[in-house]
Amino acid sequence: MQISKDSVVSIDYKLTDDSGNLMDSSEGSDPLAYLHGAGNIISGLETALLGKSVGEELKVRIAPEDAYGVRDDSKKQAVPKELFGDEEEVKIGAQYHAEGPDGTHVAVTVMEITDDTITVDANHPLAGYHLNFEVKIVEIRSATKEELEHGHVHGPHGHHHD
Ligand code: ZN
Repeated sequence: MQISKDSVVSIDYKLTDDSGNLMDSSEGSDPLAYLHGAGNIISGLETALLGKSVGEELKVRIAPEDAYGVRDDSKKQAVPKELFGDEEEVKIGAQYHAEGPDGTHVAVTVMEITDDTITVDANHPLAGYHLNFEVKIVEIRSATKEELEHGHVHGPHGHHHD
């Protein structure tokens, strides 16, 4: 069986940046299970995995455009400190959920703190990075009807519903 649209795929993976720093890995935990073609994982990785079989290993370098996007400096802004309530607790690198201009929720990271303002960045922490994946395909199966309706994987390595 080869990976195609609507396959449920389990992978072991290791993610490094261009300097070789380990950014994420499935080592020590279960493989990552995703529904192929449903946008569960970044598009560059889906493209690289299409047509692959169990046991195959691949190394792929993915450009920001096909990963978490390019950095957008307009997503970085200084906001008044009082918006943060308990501002003494705010630390550089901390993440908060904020409401974006269109009412959607975005995750922001604290970049800088001055006497009056806190600079937050709404770019994804991996925006602008080339991502280097080493992937091994562990399992491929067909998605169930329910998984296709939900757009995600069920079962031991996937979503659990009450
Ligand atoms: Zn579900």
